[in-house]
Amino acid sequence: MQSPATISPDTWNPKHVEKIRADFPVLNERVYGKPLVYFDNAATTQKPQVVIDSLADYYSHYNANIHRGVHFLSQKAGNAYDQVRTDVARFINAKSEKEIIFVRGTTEAINLVASSWGRMNLHEGDEVLISAMEHHSNIVPWQLICEERKAKVRVIPMDETGTLKMDQLDSLINTRTKFISVVHTSNSLGTINPVKELIQKAHAHGIPVLVDAAQAMVHGQIDVRDLDCDFLAFSAHKMLGPTGTGVLYGKKELLEAMPPYQGGGEMIQSVSFTKTTYAELPAKFEAGTPNIAGVIGMGAAIKYLSQLDRHGAAEYEAHLLSHAYSVLKKIDGLRFIGTAKEKSSVVSFVIDGLNALDIGMYLDTLGIAVRTGHHCTEPVMDHFGIPGTIRASFVFYNTIEEINALADGIQKAIRLLKK
Ligand code: PMP
Repeated sequence: MQSPATISPDTWNPKHVEKIRADFPVLNERVYGKPLVYFDNAATTQKPQVVIDSLADYYSHYNANIHRGVHFLSQKAGNAYDQVRTDVARFINAKSEKEIIFVRGTTEAINLVASSWGRMNLHEGDEVLISAMEHHSNIVPWQLICEERKAKVRVIPMDETGTLKMDQLDSLINTRTKFISVVHTSNSLGTINPVKELIQKAHAHGIPVLVDAAQAMVHGQIDVRDLDCDFLAFSAHKMLGPTGTGVLYGKKELLEAMPPYQGGGEMIQSVSFTKTTYAELPAKFEAGTPNIAGVIGMGAAIKYLSQLDRHGAAEYEAHLLSHAYSVLKKIDGLRFIGTAKEKSSVVSFVIDGLNALDIGMYLDTLGIAVRTGHHCTEPVMDHFGIPGTIRASFVFYNTIEEINALADGIQKAIRLLKK
């Protein structure tokens, strides 16, 4: 578990957090007459006003389809859309904007790689390595393609704290291992995996690696060149942006060698009934009218995140996490699920003798939004022998007072439900 953090006193003090909170209109909402406490950030984060405004601005002032129109509005929308590609490339330190493919989200990004790279490169007897803590979206696409190609999915195990058993990696990797796809930060446990080390080991065997960064982007800076990942997948909506849009980053030489994922408009160079040729990157992987507003909104989210003191925000989140641990561990019968040393600001727990859903529903009546269930990680729940957890996930706009309210709420729920 994380040790208490020192917070940069000049920035992430309660006054500063109040200022940040004012950027997020939904945080002023009341639920059943009570102030909203939003702890479901791992499912989707709230949106700052600048993101909301960017969507309204596009639809109010320059809504048009892009890349095909000669007219002013189409060019303006096209420029705004293309600018986001440049901004994303800079945000994750990609070499080229050609390496940035806009997709619907992490799920689509992983499906794209599994389908396109997998169909071209996987053969009978080959193996794809994933980890024991993957979201279903980094399991099922590999199962589908492996079934088709007669290949096999293998799993890097984890221990009882929810830490990957990295010492088993060497014996899992063999000449049949063709690809590794692994989550950076677990959505149900909060574990931050040593992906850089894993990538180095994989590359020593010539194996490409995809990193699922869905949960990582909002908590800190990801540098694809420093990580040296071959692919990176993330969703805008988990990093203050709108739903329905996200990014697949891929190294240019890999993306160039891959066949298209979907066919349609935009992704072609020329079409005839006898022969069709494909567009250059990134258009080759962006068939059809894209989510123009969503991409523009994602650009606004990236701009917002970029002007924050990210280091201070991460320290503040570590402080929230350690406070959550210290107040929740006092609750009788509460058991944490996922206690890895390296963790993002997520607490998952169960309460002896009580159903997670009942606790979640009671907390809801207090205006506290948590998530209960398997969090799309059924194998993680099987590993711990439980049907689900209660998960509270924090970001830098949450407060110590909200965490205290959660602890009080859980105590009340236990008193009521155990009667
Ligand atoms: N991977 C992880 C670790 C996630 O937390 C999620 C969303 N819960 C996904 C993948 C899928 O993201 P999306 O639903 O935005 O495609």
